[in-house]
Amino acid sequence: MNDLQQSTRRIYEFFAGICKIPHPSYHCDGIRKFLKQTAEKHNLKYREDGAGNVRLDRKNGDFASAIALQSHMDMVPQSVDPDFDFTVRSIEFEEVNGILRSKDCRTTLGADNGIGMAASLCAMTDENLEDLPLCAIFTVDEETGLTGAMNIAPEFLECRALFNLDSEEWGELTTGCAGGAHTTTRIPVQKQTTPQECTAGIHVSCHNLKGGHSGTDINLNRGNAILILLDYISKSSAEVSTIKGGNLANAIPRSAEFTGAVQDFDKLLTFTEKFKENVRRTFDVPSDFDITVEKLDEPPTGVIDNFGHIALFLKSIPSGVIAVDEALECVATSNNMAIIKGDTNTIEILMSQRSIRNIDRERLSSDIAGRFAKIGGETVTDAEYSAWESTTSAQFLKLATDTYKELFNAECKVKIIHAGLECGLFQEKNPQLPMLSFGPTIRNPHSPSEELELATLKDFYNFLAVLAKKILKK
Ligand SMILES: [Zn+2]
Repeated sequence: MNDLQQSTRRIYEFFAGICKIPHPSYHCDGIRKFLKQTAEKHNLKYREDGAGNVRLDRKNGDFASAIALQSHMDMVPQSVDPDFDFTVRSIEFEEVNGILRSKDCRTTLGADNGIGMAASLCAMTDENLEDLPLCAIFTVDEETGLTGAMNIAPEFLECRALFNLDSEEWGELTTGCAGGAHTTTRIPVQKQTTPQECTAGIHVSCHNLKGGHSGTDINLNRGNAILILLDYISKSSAEVSTIKGGNLANAIPRSAEFTGAVQDFDKLLTFTEKFKENVRRTFDVPSDFDITVEKLDEPPTGVIDNFGHIALFLKSIPSGVIAVDEALECVATSNNMAIIKGDTNTIEILMSQRSIRNIDRERLSSDIAGRFAKIGGETVTDAEYSAWESTTSAQFLKLATDTYKELFNAECKVKIIHAGLECGLFQEKNPQLPMLSFGPTIRNPHSPSEELELATLKDFYNFLAVLAKKILKK
């Protein structure tokens, strides 16, 4: 077995160790204990900050000149079995044709970001890299709002360069990412007695859209269930008494529904068929996409006054991709209408804005708040995090791309992504720190079909080690 094969083996072993320890977001104690034990066993310096993040260093090294390998401790808990308790259970995994996945694809694998942690531990304890001043940073709760990175002790970021190991496509180097914020708006509404002519009570549900990540998938024309439903309401002139749709700020809503009343039920059914056809022609929807209309025993006693106008107003808020950066070949700014919940008292809407430029994101969030204010809506903006406006200098990037070419005789892709990475928050605390994000290939993260392509692990680790050596020589 050569050195590289041996390293891959060791990453695999560290990863297996991590899988045994429950570590969904907010439950990182077990991992911290494991990191502490590993540090003791290998004579590394262990530090923990107030937020629960961990940094490991070589003893007697100059901490400020180390190259940091950074990953996050928590994983997204998703299972096909609703009773699977991620806070107490281990992740069982299997290897099938060079792919690592959870056993029978029943849970998330946690390669995001367990494999980053495993590679960091492998490097920190690798005999062949003993003379390299490396350090490893492990953050908590990346998946639930980047709070570990947000509250990291500034001294943890004292280092010469940082490799974020949380990217998922081997062969790509990420040098920047979008920042984001959430706006939550409450619109007070009036209750109106259901018009006498609206004799049919209805429940309409729009479901099985593709959905996806509000950052990486926003440009894929998958359709937003809330917007589609609002369009349906404004065109069908149905009365609405309750409405709800979407469930996660970071997901494009896959379903939305409302209850209400209509004058002519049969006419609504005919309209629905035509409307569905139009949706199928306009968006990329799966074959089981549907809008179903159910007749209720009786119409609701009250409906939201003038919901048709509110629907038109909501449709006019800029949504989806708002700006594209041609030069960087990426989505620059976007808004995702993520969650709506309303009844005859109030309507609440959560939207998530992202942009690769902080100033554009701030402008968009205030533009949205300003529009809602005109109709009496009150908006709170929170969960703000900074974009990573590339700190990767041309020289540093050239070193990385040259190294890639030298090792694999191929060009790597350099990318700015529309999803969030912890690097944006690190940049706020240490603006001069050169950073780069890369990782082995992981498909379908955050879902039970998450899988790691094992063949990419060797090249990923080799690149990491060789690039670190080159940076230190500079
Ligand atoms: Zn991750």
